[in-house]
Amino acid sequence: MNKIPLAKPYVGDEEIAAVTEVIKSGMLSLGPKLKEFETNFAQLVGTKHAIAVNSGTSGLHLCLKAIGIKPGDEVITASFSFVASSNPIIFEGATPIFVDIDEKTYNMDPEKLKQAITEKTKAIIPVHMFGQPCNMDAIMEIANEKNIPVIEDACEALEATWDGKKAGTFGNSAVVAFYPNKQMTTGEGGIILTDDDNVAELCKSYRNQGRDESGQWLNHIRIGYNYRLDEMSCAMGVEQLKKVDFIINKRKEIAAKYTKKLEGIEGIILPYVDPKADSTWFVYSLRTAEGINRNKMVEYLNENGVGSKAYFYPPIHLQPIYKEMFGSNEGDFPVTEKISNTAFILPFFTELTDEQINTVCSVVEEAVRKCKND
Ligand SMILES: *Cc1c(COP(=O)(O)O)cnc(C)c1O
Repeated sequence: MNKIPLAKPYVGDEEIAAVTEVIKSGMLSLGPKLKEFETNFAQLVGTKHAIAVNSGTSGLHLCLKAIGIKPGDEVITASFSFVASSNPIIFEGATPIFVDIDEKTYNMDPEKLKQAITEKTKAIIPVHMFGQPCNMDAIMEIANEKNIPVIEDACEALEATWDGKKAGTFGNSAVVAFYPNKQMTTGEGGIILTDDDNVAELCKSYRNQGRDESGQWLNHIRIGYNYRLDEMSCAMGVEQLKKVDFIINKRKEIAAKYTKKLEGIEGIILPYVDPKADSTWFVYSLRTAEGINRNKMVEYLNENGVGSKAYFYPPIHLQPIYKEMFGSNEGDFPVTEKISNTAFILPFFTELTDEQINTVCSVVEEAVRKCKND
């Protein structure tokens, strides 16, 4: 039996044709596809600027750099995340300060955020986990009161909304990412969103070796990077954007089907979406309830044809390098650790069929019975 994979990009002939055209054109970087992709993306989300870069990580790095984050600064974020939401803080010599999450949504707890702010706090990075935006009313109120810029890690939350407003439009800047397991993909890639002209200009310069964007090609006015997104990727992005509505509707449909089928199975906890949030479902995650062994569960699913993974595990503060650098340890963030020790994901992609959904759900039901704690 072929295993049902965890993720699969939704790409077709349109992407193949568009990328082929670019290759034939001979213009493989900094060409018309970059402009088209950025213009269309800014229009989709409704920000003044969209600056494409070669990964979500690069995007977050430049957002921090553009507001002048430097050694000694503190940047607050969540530990229940992929390491890319925190590493860019360290790139600039600043210190990541983690706060615990809400047990239901897995997003940054605004109360904990408030308590973590110090004189040294120079930015806040809320991470919209699994496609569901954070409580942005509460977070923006706290940030605005203290005049601290917010950089949204919207890498998992393309087109998601909080109280009807799109993820990526709340903070000073935001980043959406396009790795192949995200809602849409460009292979590798990411995009910075902002209404701030100064941040946009700096990000454009930093992604392109610190060039003066209006000046000569070999005129470098700051130390920058090569974070450019090539034309093949941009061409793919342009085609993917045409499919975004379809992709997101499909993901919502599939999530609803999973929830309907899994409801009532004892031993698992289903994903919770806040009534004010509209998730675009980066993944479909479950948690094992008391008495059920998560690791056995993941192993059982994989052995029985269903892709599954403990997710996110370990949380960032328990990654070996973070423990070494910051002395963080078990017990530091109890809710994060509880979720991280019980959460796992199921196969989830645009073309997942009803038959596959049925298979996954019946294997989950079997697994719950067989994976009790010893
Ligand atoms: C995917 C992702 C990123 C960016 O990852 P890249 O591989 O650099 O594109 C950042 N933060 C979170 C939470 C992510 O899931």
